Amino acid sequence: MAIQYATPAAQKIHVLIIGGGIAGLTLAQALRRYGISYTVFERDESPIIRPQGWGISLHSTLITLENHVPPDVYDAICQAQVNPEAGRDEVRGVPYVNLDTGKVEHWVPKSKRLRLRRDQVRLSMTKDCNIKWGKKLITIERIDDNGVRASFEDGTSYTGTLIVGADGAFSAVRRILAPKDWHPRRLPCNAIGTSYFISETKIRKLREEVDPLYFFGTDPKTNTYSFWSMLQQPNGEDGGDGLYKMQLYFSWIHADDDRELKGMSPAEVFRLKGSTMFPTLGAVVDEMPDDALVSYVNLVEWPVVAWGNWDGLAMLAGDSAHCMSIYRGEGVNHGIIDGCVLADALKRAADGIVSPQRAVRDYEVEMRARGKEAVDVSHQACLDAHDYGIISGEGSFALLGAKKV
Ligand SMILES: Cc1cc2nc3c(=O)[nH]c(=O)nc-3n(C[C@H](O)[C@H](O)[C@H](O)COP(=O)(O)OP(=O)(O)OC[C@H]3O[C@@H](n4cnc5c(N)ncnc54)[C@H](O)[C@@H]3O)c2cc1C
Repeated sequence: MAIQYATPAAQKIHVLIIGGGIAGLTLAQALRRYGISYTVFERDESPIIRPQGWGISLHSTLITLENHVPPDVYDAICQAQVNPEAGRDEVRGVPYVNLDTGKVEHWVPKSKRLRLRRDQVRLSMTKDCNIKWGKKLITIERIDDNGVRASFEDGTSYTGTLIVGADGAFSAVRRILAPKDWHPRRLPCNAIGTSYFISETKIRKLREEVDPLYFFGTDPKTNTYSFWSMLQQPNGEDGGDGLYKMQLYFSWIHADDDRELKGMSPAEVFRLKGSTMFPTLGAVVDEMPDDALVSYVNLVEWPVVAWGNWDGLAMLAGDSAHCMSIYRGEGVNHGIIDGCVLADALKRAADGIVSPQRAVRDYEVEMRARGKEAVDVSHQACLDAHDYGIISGEGSFALLGAKKV
């Protein structure tokens, strides 16, 4: 029989969440909906200070998310669609393209799926959320069997019942919980990406020939991978009056040949990679304005090793717990599931059914297994994405198979 605690534990739980990315904010909003006390600590000074302008796809996770965050927050997230006209119940597949011919050769199976602007999703999730901005975590410590303290660069510190590190791929919390193994590992490829405004006439052909929203593929000649996505309809934002905003990304397994790229600027490398693509995509690369911000993307993964959880007082979530290659498009989806599963577990603690420490351990068992599998399959997807021969031959479940979350 489940033990009922004499005093409602809800009065006692206060969760310190380090990191206001999508994983930390999902946990925060789900706790808010459950009426459980929490504070988010985010090192950024505000939600808009750092441009994070890429698109993300949310798939079956959407149903879990809708059931956990307050309805107005979920509505605002749906408003962040790159094409709001697609509607919030869209069911779609994602085309895989031969980047030499421009022909769609495979599809990621259809499912409920929204293509969203990441910066807008994050902003939507800050709604009515208890966040302290400008708080860069320096250290955490255990103060007794029931409490933790988090200390920040500005000299402040806060105590809580437990702490959740949702502070991303280079997590400061992970550094403390897994001092020997915290360092993420670099993936074997180089990646470069940008986003820019473009006229309807200039991208119409690409949208009509391939996909109106997004696609990915591999060039059989070079095994260079590319991902293209719409980011924004013409709405006058960011000075893009009457223009569409799009995102384009190239990656390749790093090799000795990369030495010849060394003296080139990111924009020159980007144009070079784009020059081998099928003509319609090549034409879009040619339209890149000279002032577009082209940057290398630091691709890392963390293979979910064991870490200490201070007997259930400290935990990780999102990229901090299981950062993975981006080639299955699952990282943020797992971060959302983490937030929802952990909030459910803490609700059981708040209801006096289990202790907060036991709730954290229950979450950890589910998350570790799910996270490890996702990191492994995403690693394989990264390798397959740069091997057209594999995809056209035996095929790649890792890259093209249905998503679990
Ligand atoms: C180009 C690209 C495309 C992607 N596309 C997809 C996709 O389509 N689908 C998908 O599922 N995933 C995608 N991903 C992966 C996804 O973006 C990440 O998995 C997700 O954003 C991780 O969220 P998070 O909240 O765990 O971490 P983050 O977003 O990294 O948030 C961590 C937060 O913690 C804060 N922080 C860090 N250190 C500290 C500190 N010391 N103190 C306080 N705060 C701190 C940071 O400022 C940040 O706000 C993509 C990634 C990239 C790079």
